[in-house]
Amino acid sequence: MSLLKVQNLSKRFGGNLAVDGVGFELAAGELLAMIGPNGAGKSTTFNLLNGQLRPDCGTVTLAGRSLVGLTPRQVCRRGVGRTFQIAETFASLTVLENVQMALIAADGRLFAGWRRAGQHRRDDALALLAQVGMQAQAERPCSALAYGDVKRVELAIALAGQPSLLLMDEPTAGMAPAERLALMALTKRLVVERGLAVLFTEHSMDVVFAHADRLIVLARGCLIAQGSPAEVRKDPQVQAVYFGSGRTFGAAP
Ligand code: ADP
Ligand code: MG
Repeated sequence: MSLLKVQNLSKRFGGNLAVDGVGFELAAGELLAMIGPNGAGKSTTFNLLNGQLRPDCGTVTLAGRSLVGLTPRQVCRRGVGRTFQIAETFASLTVLENVQMALIAADGRLFAGWRRAGQHRRDDALALLAQVGMQAQAERPCSALAYGDVKRVELAIALAGQPSLLLMDEPTAGMAPAERLALMALTKRLVVERGLAVLFTEHSMDVVFAHADRLIVLARGCLIAQGSPAEVRKDPQVQAVYFGSGRTFGAAP
C-alpha cells in the first residue's frame, strides 16, 4: 500500500508547463529519489506536494486523503515534513535548543498548548539528536558546527514533527562528496528504522545510486522513467534525454 499517491499532476507558469501530468507512488519505508536536469520541474513538484503551490490539475493523496488545496501548515499537520535551513537568528542557539524549539512548536501543533515543554522535551530532543549522531554536540551553538553537522541538526528538526513523509529538495547542496554520502546513509537508516517515506532530489549520481530504493526521472516537466537504480541506469530514454547521448552514468562530477 502506497502512503503517497500522485496522479496527473500539472502546473503551468504562463506558457511554461513546469510539471506535466506527473504520477508516482511512494510507500512507507521507501527512499525515492527524483532526478532530472535543472528546470525539469523537481522543485515545482515538491512545492505542489507541500502546499506552497496549487496544482492546475491532478490529485495528491496521503494515506488516502487528498492534500490538494491545503495550506503548507495544514499539509505539515497531516504528517508531511520538510527540511528547512536553520535561520540565521537561530544559529546562535545551541543544537539542543534548536531541536527543543522544534519539539515545542510541534507540541503547539499537536496539543494546542505548551504543557509538555521543559525537561521532558529536553530528553526527547537529546533522543532525536542521538538518532542523527549529534548528541555529543548538543551544547554547541549551531553557528560553530561544520556544514554537514548543521544538516544533521536540520534533519532532527524535521523529525521533531513526527512526519510520515519527509520531502528533501537538494538536502546535500553545498556539501562535500563524503558528507553527501554520510547524510544520505543516515536518511536511509531513518527510513528503515522509522518506516519513514522520503522523497529527495540530488545531483550526485553516486549518492542516488548508493542509497535510493527507487528513482523517478523528470525531463521538461514530464516523468520519463521510473524504477530501481539498475533499471533507470540502463533506460535508453534516460540516457538520451537526461544525460545526453554518449554520456553514461558514472562517478559524480
Ligand atoms: P528544478 O527544480 O527541476 O530545477 P523547477 O521546478 O525549479 O525545476 O523549475 C521548472 C520550470 O518552472 C523552470 O522552467 C522554471 O524556470 C519554472 N519556474 C519555477 N518556479 C517558477 C515560478 N515561481 N514562476 C515562474 N516560473 C517558474
Ligand atoms: Mg530545484
